[in-house]
Amino acid sequence: MDASFKAIIVGAGPVGLVLAHALQASGIDYVVVEQRAQVPPEPAYALFLWPHILRIFHQLGLLDAVEAIGQPMLESIHLSAQGELLRRGQGFGELLALHGYPMMLFNRGSFAKTLVEALDNGEQHVKTNKRLSNIVSHEDGVRVEFADGTSENGSIVIGADGIWSTVRDHMKDKATPGLFDLSPNPFEAPYAGVFAKSDRIQGLVPGSNINVYQREAHVQVFTSETEAQIIAYHRIPASKERTHFGQNDAEDAAKSWLEVPVAEGVTFGDLWKSKTAGGSANFDEGVLQWWHWGRMVLVGDAAHKVNPVRGAGACCGIEDAITLVNALTRVLRSDPDPSERDLRQAFIAYQYDRESASRLWMDVSRLNLDLSTGPSQPALKAARIADMRTLPLVANGPILDTLPFPEQKNGFIPWLRKPKSRKSKDKRQSRL
Ligand SMILES: Cc1cc2nc3c(=O)[nH]c(=O)nc-3n(C[C@H](O)[C@H](O)[C@H](O)COP(=O)(O)OP(=O)(O)OC[C@H]3O[C@@H](n4cnc5c(N)ncnc54)[C@H](O)[C@@H]3O)c2cc1C
Repeated sequence: MDASFKAIIVGAGPVGLVLAHALQASGIDYVVVEQRAQVPPEPAYALFLWPHILRIFHQLGLLDAVEAIGQPMLESIHLSAQGELLRRGQGFGELLALHGYPMMLFNRGSFAKTLVEALDNGEQHVKTNKRLSNIVSHEDGVRVEFADGTSENGSIVIGADGIWSTVRDHMKDKATPGLFDLSPNPFEAPYAGVFAKSDRIQGLVPGSNINVYQREAHVQVFTSETEAQIIAYHRIPASKERTHFGQNDAEDAAKSWLEVPVAEGVTFGDLWKSKTAGGSANFDEGVLQWWHWGRMVLVGDAAHKVNPVRGAGACCGIEDAITLVNALTRVLRSDPDPSERDLRQAFIAYQYDRESASRLWMDVSRLNLDLSTGPSQPALKAARIADMRTLPLVANGPILDTLPFPEQKNGFIPWLRKPKSRKSKDKRQSRL
């Protein structure tokens, strides 16, 4: 691959860091620029990742490293608002049997640290205290300018900069009028709530996903050996207000759930009061109509938002990262210095591949939350049907097309996408 092509990734969240690994594995030069003073972030909430994401780590040679810091999910527990046990589910074990990889819970801090440390020359490739302030595009590339007065030159800018993406703002400014939703928030939130991380785990079993059902509201707890992640949701009139986690009225917002039982002798309030970090936010949802403009392209929360009830947001963004690298690898194979027009084709192919899956993740997550809070809740049977809609999404999860992956694990459901072997490529070429 030509070393003159360079991707500038804005944002060292989970998506930006997996993207860095995928580019590195594909021999494409990159730099990650992050506005925070440190990667991993502080505070660091939990991250729940599905089997197809573990498969990606396996292909990238990172499976052992991430499994060493992850908590395999073991059981789902469904409770009424009075604490009555409605059902214990073994769905996580079934997912392992179906796909060959577990579902795991990570502390975001250890996750980010592991990924940064596993990069070749990570300290040169990941730069902190770099807040994007401007993007200047020219015929052959881009210059990305930062608030500290420095800049980076590259071939493309990838916005992995989250829900309030600055790269997206620059795309909107430069794009033909009418393509982008110009409102400050392109997404909309039908639910709001609070979330927190607590070190109190007495009375809780590690590897559990606890769901407590109430009319118009829902509580979730995810547990590891050392911490519990709690989230509470309630319906709101659909809102486009731009909220930032942790900034506001979390204590007031949490009041209505303090007495909700989450385990024998443990309430939501017990976990909330011993939280080490927490906040309130609207849970925005939506999929952008345009994910790219010129030499700029979006991945992760910058392009789509799903509610967190199924732990799909970062997974969906990691799928973007892999798909985008596949599209870039294809274009760079035919021209190591692609024109803006060629890049546009690659970005169109990338969005085409990802858009419907993102929408489906969003719809299934929404359905899950609507069923959990609706009039016929707990609606456990209906939620099981929603679970079934996720299986094809997992089975169709992307991996890098050109990176050999002979050691892949398999379950009962076959993986639909496989690396394109040299043999089949040669066969295709000989047919032409
Ligand atoms: C309570 C809660 C629980 C969740 N749980 C899960 C879960 O279990 N599993 C899951 O898959 N998803 C989960 N999600 C969703 C998940 O957090 C997001 O989808 C994920 O963090 C998106 O990753 P990202 O890398 O795209 O963006 P982010 O994680 O938001 O990272 C963006 C990065 O860009 C940086 N940045 C922003 N602007 C600039 C700038 N101008 N210059 C430089 N850097 C910049 C930020 O500092 C940040 O580090 C949850 C969400 C919430 C709210």
